[in-house]
Order: sequence, then structure tokens, then C-alpha cells
Amino acid sequence: MKGSYRIGGAFGIGIFVHWSFPLLLFYVLFSSLGSGLVLALNAVVFVLAIFGCVLLHELGHSLAARRYGIGTHDITLLPIGGVARLMRLPDEPRQELVIAIAGPAVNLVIAAVLSLVVFILGNPVPTGLAELSSDTAILYGLISANLILIAFNMIPAFPMDGGRVLRALLAMKMGMLPATEIAAGFGKIMAILMFCGAFFLSPLLFITAVFIYVAGEAELQSMRRNVAGRADFMDTVMRRLSGAFAVRDGFVYDKAPRKVRGRIIEPKD
Ligand SMILES: [Zn+2]
Repeated sequence: MKGSYRIGGAFGIGIFVHWSFPLLLFYVLFSSLGSGLVLALNAVVFVLAIFGCVLLHELGHSLAARRYGIGTHDITLLPIGGVARLMRLPDEPRQELVIAIAGPAVNLVIAAVLSLVVFILGNPVPTGLAELSSDTAILYGLISANLILIAFNMIPAFPMDGGRVLRALLAMKMGMLPATEIAAGFGKIMAILMFCGAFFLSPLLFITAVFIYVAGEAELQSMRRNVAGRADFMDTVMRRLSGAFAVRDGFVYDKAPRKVRGRIIEPKD
């Protein structure tokens, strides 16, 4: 993704952070400085730990996709989530179902392991501000963060994970295009509800709502074009756009040609 920098790799997949990511850390640090430096640093560690879980979520999608011979261009962390760019659509709905579920499944495993750790440590739920700086508080926070990641990503709003699950289930009955039409239509209704809800809940929901609407429509359009046998310039542009907008969850399929060492590599289906 443009404006991203490589910070490492895992399983042969490059891991990048968007330039805006450190801004989030500075924001967290400065906004919690009022409670003291220790709590502020704890808040930064907590946010980094959540993004560690987001990264594992994206690796879950990528490694599930690899089982079906689908590679991953890269994984990028943004202030609002992570994106794994998969190289192509899976061949069968069942494969998309597995790839979509693999991300939230990773968070379920993390939540279960952390719950076990808390259980073994036998520490009580933190009640006061002083206890919030303890390791246990971070563990409790991470358990809830992982549960929220699962609940949020499994909302059936295409192209979020839950929406991909819905599309895959529909596609088993009626084929890819009609399934995408229904899932994207339903996703748009969810996006509009989310947009209205953002006024009362969180401004971050505005971005997510716009992402669901734009990226869902982009993927639907590109599928219509692929069915019609024309993948054109707009297709590439919309894919780039959907990649740039992918929020919180997100894996996107990138079939656009790409440049490697000056050569144009055409995608294979
Ligand atoms: Zn996901």
C-alpha cells in the first residue's frame, strides 16, 4: 500500500505499517499523559498488543489462503486496522468461507489462551485505577479487545469477514455473482445503519461505514466486469481504492497487474 514501510516479515509475507500508524501511538501517549507517564506508556503497550492481535488475525486469513494456493502480496497495519492483500479470489465458495473465518478464529484462540493465563494466575478483575497499570489489566483488556474484534468483523456486512461468510454461503446455492449482489446489497444497508449509529457511538464508525459501502460496491462492480469478461482500468483503480480504504478487517483480493523490478506481472487466474 502507498505510504507504507516494511517493518518485517512472517511466513514469507512482508509486514508493513502505514505512515499514519505512529501518529496513533503519539495520540494515545499524549492523551493519557494526564494520568502519569507509567499509565500512558502502558496505554501505548496495550495499543501495540491489540495491533499484534490484528496482525495475527490477518496472518490467519493469509495462511488459510495459502492452503488453497493463494499467495499474499503483503499485510499492512493502519491506525484503524489491518489489511491482508490476497493475490486472487478463491476458486470455490467453501474456500472463501474458510479464509474469512480463519481471521476471527485466530482472535478466538488468543482470547481462550489469555483467559487460561488469567485463570492460572488467579488474579481478580482490576477495580481501581492503580490496578489498571498491572499486567493483569492489560490481559483483561486484550481478552475484551479480541472478543470485540471477533464480534465486529463477523457483522455480516460485505466485504468484512462476516459478509464474506454470508457471500460464500449464498454462493454455494446460487453462484458467485448473485451471491455477491445480495451480500453487497445487505452490506450497504448495514453501512447506512452504521453511518447513522456513528453519530451516537464513535466517529471511527464513519470511516468503517464508508469503507463497507465503497469497497463492497467496488468488489461487486469488478465481479460484474469479470463475469462480462472485461477487467479494465477502472477495475484496477477501484481495487487500489478498496485496498486503501480497507478498515479494521480486511483482506482484499488484488488481481491487478503489478510491477516487479520494472516488469509488469499479469495476474494469473
Ligand atoms: Zn478479517
